[in-house]
Amino acid sequence: MTWLVQPRLINEPFADPGLFIDFRFRRRALLFDLGDISLLSPRELLRVGHVFVSHAHMDHFSGFDTLLRVCLHRNQPLRLTGPLDFADRVAAKLAGYTWNLLDENSLDFAILVDEFDGCIRRSSRFRARAAFVREDVEPRQLAPDLVLEEDELVVEATVLDHGLPCLAFALQERRRVNVWRDGLRRLGLPVGPWLNEAKRAVRRGDPDDSVVAVDQTRTVTLGELRKEALQIAAGQRLAYVVDAAAHEENIERAVRLARGADHLFIEAAFADEDAALADQRRHLTAGAAGRIAKLAGARRVIPLHFSTRYIDRPDLIPEQVNRAFRE
Ligand SMILES: [Zn+2]
Repeated sequence: MTWLVQPRLINEPFADPGLFIDFRFRRRALLFDLGDISLLSPRELLRVGHVFVSHAHMDHFSGFDTLLRVCLHRNQPLRLTGPLDFADRVAAKLAGYTWNLLDENSLDFAILVDEFDGCIRRSSRFRARAAFVREDVEPRQLAPDLVLEEDELVVEATVLDHGLPCLAFALQERRRVNVWRDGLRRLGLPVGPWLNEAKRAVRRGDPDDSVVAVDQTRTVTLGELRKEALQIAAGQRLAYVVDAAAHEENIERAVRLARGADHLFIEAAFADEDAALADQRRHLTAGAAGRIAKLAGARRVIPLHFSTRYIDRPDLIPEQVNRAFRE
């Protein structure tokens, strides 16, 4: 079974946090956080259609300029999701440049911003053709807890406390459906666009006796297809949790978001012996990160965003995270 998306950390764990999520076989990518992204190529940045920004501290948002510089030359919009008042931060960034050469003849590039606070509260738009003046638009209608909803995946969010609201995200692929060509041949059925409808029916969980139209004259039941020609697996779940105080309410929220994650990417800024410092800076300790992974039943935990005070002991934090994870 091949996954729909492939996650990759942008930087080593002592540098800015950020996750590049590339779609296989598609010219499309997502980003979780927007700090130092200089290690991503222009080709990779051009694929980015949606960025989920945890909060606007510099190490999570300073890459906005780099991304904008590349995206200015495309028509495809750039969507950003961040915490409440995030559009103000975007507007302030855009106000730092002179846009006198932009007018209605410019490329029709736009930045769309959604602000999340348990649900999408506000949406704004900044169009290149309007010299990036902010326009308020209808808030995007999505179910509570969701920041993206598509046929093949959803992205959920939750608000954590980092002295300010900081968003954590989880990408859930819907059920994966692969077609087995030999099986199709055995059923005497052709490959074609009708298979997309069949896959959608499987993802929706339609019953075995539902009928799928192959063409004008032929039909097949979903049960037959499932038995002979479809390989079905649960979708992958990726969770990304950064910058949160290690108190119980945060831990509960992070655990709920990361439940059953195949990969949990989680900050572990401070070693356990520096818990007082972690508390003061509103960050997780390595032990708290490991405990969240364990309570969530994550299959794999990938710690990141280590304080540089441990740069000469690069194994310290991963060891403490893993100890708490396996305890
Ligand atoms: Zn940070």
